[in-house]
Amino acid sequence: MKGFDIAVIGAGVFGSWIAYRLVSEGKRVALVEGYGAGNSRASSGGETRILRFSYGADEIYTRMAMRAFELWREFLHGCPETLFHSIGALVAAPAGDAMLHASREAMLGAGAQFETLDSEQLRRRFPQMSFPAEPAALFEPSSGALLARRLTKSVAAAARRKGAEILCGRVETPSGAGHLPCVLTGGGSLIEADTFVFACGPWLAGLFPQLLGGRIFPTRQEIFFFGVPAGDARFGPDALPVWLDRTDPRLPYGIPDIENRGVKVAFDLHGPPFDPDSGERIVSAENTAAAREYLGRRFPALKGAPLVESRVCQYENTSSGDFLIDRHPEFDNVWIAGGGSGHGFKHGPAVGEYVADVLAGRRTAEPRFMLASKRTTQARAVY
Ligand SMILES: Cc1cc2nc3c(=O)[nH]c(=O)nc-3n(C[C@H](O)[C@H](O)[C@H](O)COP(=O)(O)OP(=O)(O)OC[C@H]3O[C@@H](n4cnc5c(N)ncnc54)[C@H](O)[C@@H]3O)c2cc1C
Repeated sequence: MKGFDIAVIGAGVFGSWIAYRLVSEGKRVALVEGYGAGNSRASSGGETRILRFSYGADEIYTRMAMRAFELWREFLHGCPETLFHSIGALVAAPAGDAMLHASREAMLGAGAQFETLDSEQLRRRFPQMSFPAEPAALFEPSSGALLARRLTKSVAAAARRKGAEILCGRVETPSGAGHLPCVLTGGGSLIEADTFVFACGPWLAGLFPQLLGGRIFPTRQEIFFFGVPAGDARFGPDALPVWLDRTDPRLPYGIPDIENRGVKVAFDLHGPPFDPDSGERIVSAENTAAAREYLGRRFPALKGAPLVESRVCQYENTSSGDFLIDRHPEFDNVWIAGGGSGHGFKHGPAVGEYVADVLAGRRTAEPRFMLASKRTTQARAVY
């Protein structure tokens, strides 16, 4: 295949935005994808993802989410469908929670919009929810839910309209060292480029087993959609924001009944290791019961609600939860962009911008994104 300036491997949210950004800068770009943009195995293939600014003391991600939000809004301006529901994000925590306090400080520092709610205000504002005694809460009015699968496809399609070539194929692990002239796909195509960016999400560990096998940990995550009572609008996006619930140690979160698919509930704790190619994607009875029990406690009117849909997806965790965006140490023209660690979707546009800037030498690399900061043991620090 003819020479490109840059070949981006993987059309998840990271790769699609990287390709979109680079082609917008006039580069000749190939976007190579094995299963299709937003496919059901990809981490970006879920229906919805939360966009929020609160990240505890990790102001770096607060600021990055704010920049991404601006870029999402620019992108969404040209979209005929509603692919972002700006319904607000509620973060609830036990009174005195250090992370909530740190989020407030970081958001104040970064200039993010938010309100603080006490338990009485929380009750009045969201009467359909019931919290344990006296929680504290933050409400981010402009945050909300991104329609992930469709957005990923839209960004890849927009990159194609700007001139990127979308190539179908599974790229094999590059061999050798120094300068990589081309990559090969499983189907035998050869793709030449000056620079290669591997944005392969949870597949990065398998593609570069020696380098990343112990540094990217794909984990199985189960997601549940529970049906709402007929004729009851209290659980739709006009009445309910997305929420993150730190009052429960399993770190549940949820998204209202967007597009009438049911109220989404999941736990943010990391599940067991998972193979993104061959892993079976059927939720367990045990976790379904746990999600239903949680939902019934937090939303008494949804006690015993039927499961109407479910999904199994995978996080692609680094040791800390920081992204991994760095040059491959054995090649001068191969880059890795991944490690979204269960919170990467919202940042897609900012990741695209960051990669384009670093490749062009317009900004210095962020130490927290570098390979050198990644350990081989999991010690999550970013929430
Ligand atoms: C259950 C769940 C809930 C989440 N919730 C949120 C949330 O609320 N908010 C948020 O911001 N983030 C959230 N995330 C995280 C976010 O979805 C991910 O961090 C993000 O989607 C990762 O995108 P990616 O492009 O790095 O990887 P992926 O989306 O997995 O994309 C990688 C792509 O590379 C392709 N590929 C792999 N290997 C090859 C190869 N060799 N050749 C060609 N193509 C290849 C794959 O087919 C895939 O399409 C969540 C994740 C999960 C699983």
